[in-house]
Amino acid sequence: MVKIETLPDEMGFYGEFGGAFIPELLRPNVEELTHSFREKKNDPAFNKQYISLLEDYVGRPTPLYFSEKLSNKHGCSIYLKREDLNHTGAHKINNAIGQILLAKSMGKHQIIAETGAGQHGVATATACALMDMECIIFMGEIDIERQAPNVQRMEFLGATVIPATSGSRTLKDATNEAIRHWINHPDAYYLIGSVVGPHPYPEIVAHFQSIISKEIQMQLYAKTGKSSPTKVVACVGGGSNAAGAFYHFYDDENVELIAVEAAGHGLNSGKSAATSILGTPGVLHGSMTLLMQDEFGQVTEPHSISAGLDYPGIGPLHAFSIDSGRTKSIPITDNEALIAARELTKTEGIIPALESAHALAALNSLELDKNDVVVVNLSGRGDKDMSTYLQHSHIK
Ligand SMILES: *Cc1c(COP(=O)(O)O)cnc(C)c1O
Repeated sequence: MVKIETLPDEMGFYGEFGGAFIPELLRPNVEELTHSFREKKNDPAFNKQYISLLEDYVGRPTPLYFSEKLSNKHGCSIYLKREDLNHTGAHKINNAIGQILLAKSMGKHQIIAETGAGQHGVATATACALMDMECIIFMGEIDIERQAPNVQRMEFLGATVIPATSGSRTLKDATNEAIRHWINHPDAYYLIGSVVGPHPYPEIVAHFQSIISKEIQMQLYAKTGKSSPTKVVACVGGGSNAAGAFYHFYDDENVELIAVEAAGHGLNSGKSAATSILGTPGVLHGSMTLLMQDEFGQVTEPHSISAGLDYPGIGPLHAFSIDSGRTKSIPITDNEALIAARELTKTEGIIPALESAHALAALNSLELDKNDVVVVNLSGRGDKDMSTYLQHSHIK
């Protein structure tokens, strides 16, 4: 059983996973951050500002939408948590707002961040514009190509976008570049976008995203008289939208938690990002976690059609929870996600992000009966994925 309030331990571990594997040079920064977060987390003035920005700027609470079409198809009740309706189009802004307030309270002026799909980059650039901070975004060269609209948005918001040109030129490499910059500029605030990286980042990001499951509890109660669903389904890149959607349900063993991983071309194709299934323990980006690596410990290049899931690791909370059997993981291929995206678009008039489409596709792999109440976290909207959807419109 996962007792979420007791995690992580003092050293930032979730069982054997987590911790802070960082150069000594960064140790003071990470300790300062841990201290500030612990203080602000329980500071009423800080929380008041965070919540009022979420309400009036981000547009929370996001709706919990009962999907009649999906419910009829699967023979149970299916709700969509509409994170796609947040300002900037995904859940990433919840965390960006929380951390920018933290950075401000610590007297920081320069914000650095990595981004894959560009959603975290856009959320960070937005928060920086709002708070008048300098913003530098690292992004893989490949992702810059496939997520062009988000690059334009970041630049228009005043951010500097620096291409990562090493390795697979995707999220992993952008993260490496961001960490390198941080080592050379320890005064910068590194605003990590998922529940990954060294302690205390996984804890901080899970905290700021936990608003998602808090709202689900209240909204479900208002609609059904019960505050818990039977299943919560969310896609996992690093795992921040999943951590947020699962958070307040970890301790309730009647709620099944389903993490959906990108299987790319297929689990055994050598072209996937299904870390929790194919990964083994190792250190990635400052944290002990499950990661895709070869027998020599070299990180395997991940593949997913969705830039936000194209990451060879997974947050330590998820590694621990999946390893202990609390969270179940399901692999979904590129094609299954494309089909699910079109289905939701055609039946509900909602164009989901490719990442979120993986979570939707997982409904087909679940055993569902009429008593099931399933919440699918619709992590973001699909505007950024239109060119990919149009290129693949032949897939049925
Ligand atoms: C970034 C992103 C993801 C993946 O990141 P997590 O940290 O795993 O949530 C999923 N969906 C969308 C829409 C994203 O932008």
